Amino acid sequence: PMRAPILQLSGLRVSYGQINAVKGIDLAIEPGELVSLIGANGAGKTTTLNAIAGVLPIAGGELSYAGEHIETLPAHLRLRRGLALVPEGRGIFTRLTVEENLQMGAYTRHDKAGVEADMQRIFELLPRVKERLFQVAGTLSGGEQQMLAIGRALLSRPRLLLLDEPSMGLAPLFVEKIFEVVQSIVKEGVAVLLVEQNANLALQFAQRACVMEGGLITLRGTGQELLHDPKVRSAYLGE
Ligand code: ATP
Repeated sequence: PMRAPILQLSGLRVSYGQINAVKGIDLAIEPGELVSLIGANGAGKTTTLNAIAGVLPIAGGELSYAGEHIETLPAHLRLRRGLALVPEGRGIFTRLTVEENLQMGAYTRHDKAGVEADMQRIFELLPRVKERLFQVAGTLSGGEQQMLAIGRALLSRPRLLLLDEPSMGLAPLFVEKIFEVVQSIVKEGVAVLLVEQNANLALQFAQRACVMEGGLITLRGTGQELLHDPKVRSAYLGE
């Protein structure tokens, strides 16, 4: 039987003034599922993630999370309920230390012991972050900063993690590492909505995937189906 979705979008629309960036999309994500969203620059992927996280208002449609309507719920309350965004460009505090950045991720929580336990779990998942704990975050490499951004999001104990272009600008070794981390997170039961330019990896590991074009979802299927789709191969896999 189908589980109740953790996230459900119906006819979601998002605009910047007169510009309709997202023109009515439907999407459901189940608990513990990895769903990838691919598409060209300007297709509306980042706008979609930002609207789900509540950093952008929606222009229409419905948005439910864990069975409740959240269309007008402020971003910080979505985060408190376990809906976390790792934004494009990572949004880490470059002048703070790695440790201070991680603590910011737990600011909504009051269970000190739980936070400490999660911190240890995150160090196992992201040993590089632990090694750099007392370093100023701005001095980390791009890949290390991405790991830190993911670790910080995990400290909010998300049930749904929105990842915007985590592999952007990273060396191939780090890209692989990021995808390993994403898979471990999914294995622990966290649902992930992943926006990625690296369509090959994004489709390889996704249970389901969608292609966005011009503010609409124009193609959907399992990750494997899209990976072998001729249109996807020619448009997004450079073939
Ligand atoms: P990218 O990979 O470049 O981030 P994307 O698929 O995430 O692409 P969006 O960034 O969501 O696309 O952009 C969707 C559309 O909205 C584009 O036409 C873009 O020009 C427009 N847009 C995005 N941000 C703004 C903004 N702040 N003001 C006005 N228009 C915007």
